[in-house]
Amino acid sequence: MMKEELQLIELKDWGLENVDKPLIISGPCSAETEEQVLETAHQLKKIGVNIYRAGIWKPRTKPGSFEGVGSEGLQWLRKVKEETGMLISTEVANVKHVYEALRVGVDILWIGARTSANPFAMQEIADALQGVDIPILIKNPVNPDVDLWEGAIERIYKAGIRRIGAIHRGFSSYEHSIYRNVPQWQLAIDIQRRLPNLVMINDPSHIGGKRELIQPISQKAMDLNFDGLMIESHIDPDKAWSDAKQQITPETLNLILESIVIRDVNPENASLDTLENLRHKIDKIDDDLMDLLQERMKVSLNIGQYKKENNMTIFQQGRWNTLLKNHKIKGNKRELGEEFISKVYKAIHQESINKQNEVMNE
Ligand code: PEP
Ligand code: MN
Repeated sequence: MMKEELQLIELKDWGLENVDKPLIISGPCSAETEEQVLETAHQLKKIGVNIYRAGIWKPRTKPGSFEGVGSEGLQWLRKVKEETGMLISTEVANVKHVYEALRVGVDILWIGARTSANPFAMQEIADALQGVDIPILIKNPVNPDVDLWEGAIERIYKAGIRRIGAIHRGFSSYEHSIYRNVPQWQLAIDIQRRLPNLVMINDPSHIGGKRELIQPISQKAMDLNFDGLMIESHIDPDKAWSDAKQQITPETLNLILESIVIRDVNPENASLDTLENLRHKIDKIDDDLMDLLQERMKVSLNIGQYKKENNMTIFQQGRWNTLLKNHKIKGNKRELGEEFISKVYKAIHQESINKQNEVMNE
């Protein structure tokens, strides 16, 4: 059965006032005090930000960290809307959060990475949203699982929501990295390919985890044609009660936004012929690669036959080690990264083993 295609509404038809591409959402990680919430909002409004964010309930990794001011903060958000005319958004993680946020007129809700990883929580939230018509943004789950992310989006869609955005905030990793959450951009590209019209927002604050990385990550997101950015900001970042290292002042945000180059997908005066030509070349090379892979797998089948007749094991550790080592050297000479070559050859080798297995057990 063909999977039903989700009929999502693209950003330009969301009908939100003053919201163009790139859509910018900013505000503190957490609402802390009424003064901090309102002052940050006024400063953001002054630099042209029209969507405000603040976490009211904070999902923290360990107990004892600041867990958000709770419902009281919703009144501060309501004031932001009244005083600045900005749209307001907050994170919801359970049914109670949804009802309370809707009651004070929150315009956009987002679902955090720990929640989108949990189908039970997602279903409860989706049920609570039945019949509600506001945009919902869904962060990627903490683990790099596109199906899980897509599943979370589908649950919200099934509740009747059509203005859906995905927030790419990177993925947890045990390994040390310059990022707080490794971006793994290919997952964001994949979810976009699966769900046409899905609004894609990048969250450089939670990917980078530090101020210096916000600009380059934002630029990369724009170069990948994301629809918008969610960036944490605070009137006094060093004193923030959560995520202090990654928050920036509205003033710094303004500098970053001014420095970002926005490129067109199909610029009117660019020579599309050239791009078309280059794409043709790529398509041709891909066809050749495909043919070569097919050739190679045919040889694998012959090898499988030989090993079967001679009662040899399929996997030969020595041969594989030599092969991988040589390929890395050859790759190096061609300016192909070691990790890339290693990944490609591991995949090819695995497929070759599968083919030999087929022959062996015929
Ligand atoms: C946040 O936006 O402050 C937050 C908690 O993000 P995430 O769910 O991406 O960790
Ligand atoms: Mn945060």
